[in-house]
Amino acid sequence: MTAKTAIVIGSGVAGLSAASYLAQKGLKVTLLEKNSAVGGRARKFEAQGFTFDMGPSWYWMPDVFEKFYNDFGHTTSDFYELKRLDPSYQIFDKNGEAVTIPANMLELEQLFESYEPGSAIKLRSFLKEAQYKYEVGINDLVYKPSVSIFEFADARLLKGLIKMDVFTSIKKHVRSFVSHPFLIELLEFPILFLGALSKNTPALYSLMNYADMSLGTWYPMGGMFKIIEAFKTIAIEQGVDVKVNHEVLKIETENGIAKKVITANGHFEADIIVGAGDYHHIDQKLLQTADQSYSENYWDKRKLAPSCLIYYIGLNKRITGLQHHNLFFDADFARHAHEIYTEPKWPTEPLFYVSAPSITDHTVAPEGCENLFMLIPVAPGMADTEAVRESYFKTIMARLEKHTQTEIMPHVVYNRSYAYTDFVSDYHAFKGNAYGLANTLDQTAILKPRIKSKKIKNLYFAGQLTVPGPGLPPSIISGNVVANLIAKDLKIVKN
Ligand SMILES: Cc1cc2nc3c(=O)[nH]c(=O)nc-3n(C[C@H](O)[C@H](O)[C@H](O)COP(=O)(O)OP(=O)(O)OC[C@H]3O[C@@H](n4cnc5c(N)ncnc54)[C@H](O)[C@@H]3O)c2cc1C
Repeated sequence: MTAKTAIVIGSGVAGLSAASYLAQKGLKVTLLEKNSAVGGRARKFEAQGFTFDMGPSWYWMPDVFEKFYNDFGHTTSDFYELKRLDPSYQIFDKNGEAVTIPANMLELEQLFESYEPGSAIKLRSFLKEAQYKYEVGINDLVYKPSVSIFEFADARLLKGLIKMDVFTSIKKHVRSFVSHPFLIELLEFPILFLGALSKNTPALYSLMNYADMSLGTWYPMGGMFKIIEAFKTIAIEQGVDVKVNHEVLKIETENGIAKKVITANGHFEADIIVGAGDYHHIDQKLLQTADQSYSENYWDKRKLAPSCLIYYIGLNKRITGLQHHNLFFDADFARHAHEIYTEPKWPTEPLFYVSAPSITDHTVAPEGCENLFMLIPVAPGMADTEAVRESYFKTIMARLEKHTQTEIMPHVVYNRSYAYTDFVSDYHAFKGNAYGLANTLDQTAILKPRIKSKKIKNLYFAGQLTVPGPGLPPSIISGNVVANLIAKDLKIVKN
């Protein structure tokens, strides 16, 4: 019998993961990527001796990466040295004071006590619950393809639903443990990755606090792009044919079956197609109306996680006062959140994030120089102009200079910005989203855009807009889940 064939559209971590798992199951896989390099949002670029990771900078949940490598007979250290950061990160508080968040649990508890007597013991029980949610979530929930509610009719999960805090908000949950405003902000910070207000985010997601405080913040020496290099190596080892500069323009179907994928460089045929690029784009732009799983109206009603305005900065000097990860919570958190989620507009006085990987890794900047990645979360769909980019650059640079008490502006030797229009042109990102859909209860599991097309029998999806959701670890898992579902549908038993 000849091997079944598959085409995977998009080479982000989800596409690379799906392609590798499908090839491992015996399918002959072609991976088509529109850009000139693989990696999607986790690509890198080099300029004037600096190496900039374009998107992800937080390496959380190292167990998920390790599982992926183990599934292909590897381990993380085959590809890169993984370093635990200590401090994990630094927060500039309302008064501009720098507070470092230690990796060590005892030191973290002492920090909590210094703000609120009695909070160390509360933190311990908060994290114990969070650990339970993480273990059930990461081992069970995220591996459900979520095509049917019955997948969740498992005794352990049903029993656990209350304990999993699916129906309580994280806002309420956090406040039942601590009351100092700084500790509340600290425990709510990981929710920023989930793209919704804490009052709209299920307390299930305190599992992110377990990932943050217990499992730790890590960094792959050489940069986050080392992950993509590793994933590409595995895909090639599994026999995947990786084709860059191959934008898919159309998926042709016949009687509910996808037959052909049209690119500018010719067409491709396969038994199975996995759309691991932007789900909305594939559904709405590559398929004819009758073949689309959702209407434009459905998409319009989705709540998106924020987009962002990013600056990749090269400095010709080192700066003191920064850690590898720095959160500038020196402005009004509630007002910025309001301007992202409730009344979308350019923020009046933004919170922002600065990563300085050159503090840990000298290979990402020339000697004596600093590599900075600066990010302002903004509402999705906000058209940006050069003037807007320039103005926010000056604003956050001034705050950076103030808090580090260092002159930085005259030392900028490289400056590139990246925002809404770039997300759209580089990734066809729906409304220029950076991190996909918000993780609200009504957009979780079976309520997310489905991993399997509703109309086309052999068309599947992977990536941050479907289950389990945004972030590198979930997107990697998404590739695994879709490959397992395809294998089940094709009745393939090989692992
Ligand atoms: C600025 C930023 C910071 C982030 N920070 C973190 C972090 O610190 N930690 C973390 O874990 N996660 C982070 N994330 C989220 C994480 O990067 C994403 O969730 C994840 O990379 C998404 O992977 P994906 O494969 O689903 O999509 P993508 O990476 O977007 O890949 C999709 C690919 O499909 C391609 N494509 C699209 N249309 C077509 C077409 N028609 N034909 C062919 N190819 C096509 C695109 O070019 C792209 O390469 C961040 C994201 C951003 C943007």
